[in-house]
Amino acid sequence: MNATSPLSARTLVPLRSPDTVMAQLREHFGEHGVISGDDGSWSVVFDIGTATASRQGGGIAFSVEARDDTSLAYLQWSVAEHVCEFAPGETPEIAWDGGTQPGAPLPYFREMRVLRATQVTPAMRRLTLGGEKLDRFAHDGLHVRLLLAPKPGITPVWPVMAADGRQAWPDGERPVARVYTIRRIDVEAGEVDIDFVLHEGDEMPGAVFGRDARAGDVVGMTGPGGGTLPPAPHHLFFGDETALPAISRMLEELPEKARASAFIEIADPSERQELALRPGIELEWLSREGRPAGTTTLLADRLRALDPGHWQAGTYVWAGCEQTAARSIRSFLKSERRMPRQQYLVAAYWRRGQAGEVED
Ligand SMILES: Cc1cc2nc3c(=O)[nH]c(=O)nc-3n(C[C@H](O)[C@H](O)[C@H](O)COP(=O)(O)OP(=O)(O)OC[C@H]3O[C@@H](n4cnc5c(N)ncnc54)[C@H](O)[C@@H]3O)c2cc1C
Repeated sequence: MNATSPLSARTLVPLRSPDTVMAQLREHFGEHGVISGDDGSWSVVFDIGTATASRQGGGIAFSVEARDDTSLAYLQWSVAEHVCEFAPGETPEIAWDGGTQPGAPLPYFREMRVLRATQVTPAMRRLTLGGEKLDRFAHDGLHVRLLLAPKPGITPVWPVMAADGRQAWPDGERPVARVYTIRRIDVEAGEVDIDFVLHEGDEMPGAVFGRDARAGDVVGMTGPGGGTLPPAPHHLFFGDETALPAISRMLEELPEKARASAFIEIADPSERQELALRPGIELEWLSREGRPAGTTTLLADRLRALDPGHWQAGTYVWAGCEQTAARSIRSFLKSERRMPRQQYLVAAYWRRGQAGEVED
């Protein structure tokens, strides 16, 4: 790709109520990027590129522009997904001119092969996955979706680019998706490490793959996603073991002078890991002492009990954990500490008693 000329794609979408869709898109995209222009024609600048919408005839003309094919495909996907969401009861005809050809592999998909496995702690197993062209996975987000066989022994089909910019599926068994974090990436060697929590349960494709995978096994991977940590003079991190890979990587990637305190909930002391901590970064393990994951208030209690020295001008709070704990943390930051929305990110990483991704 030529770094100086962005990639682009455009489409004209006929709609029954284009003004309503324009207004809803503008409001939605405005929460995730910087909007300029008026109701009839506006642009929104995201971290990954720009989307422009203009009322034209009986529809809306869209154009998207980005630095790489993954970002471009994400923008195409996002426009298509939200046009369909905001035009209920109709099937908008979306056909992009430019971008990845319909039927071609998704630019943000890689087929990965298990290279080796390492038992990090009793309940955390690391799989090193090998794949090609991983450079785009090294920036703009730590997270990936792993596409896993729905049942053991089945090789699923992989998604391809749909004409409307979303995903199309060839005939065959579709995989199930679970979200994981790239704990380490080595672009040159073509490797990523994913740390799997070996949690309790029966039907749990993610943990089962993490537990049973052997060298040579194949898994799909899409991404990256999740955005980047905003710069701040001081960060507070809260997470359970599912967020330990993300927190570890964010601590490693903090700028030299940034200071941070991390509080990590684990099942028991045998789950502690050796993290490379430099001066200015403190780490505290919070042990459940045998209580099941997702049943304690350890993280929110520790947050509430922080001494005033932890709260400094510009402190940024990041949290990833079970949904009930995440809600409690978010409510404290929002309602009790009255922190501005841009100074914290609290994500539900899983929900006790529910399989798959959590609607937060
Ligand atoms: C952005 C993001 C990044 C993540 N990164 C990682 C990561 O790097 N490593 C990692 O292990 N997980 C990570 N997770 C969490 C992971 O996606 C969930 O735990 C997921 O549910 C695991 O899928 P599964 O197939 O094992 O279980 P599911 O099929 O989703 O769930 C089956 C049952 O297991 C329960 N369950 C799910 N997770 C846990 C758990 N941790 N402890 C106890 N019970 C559980 C569910 O409540 C359900 O009852 C991340 C989640 C997000 C949103």
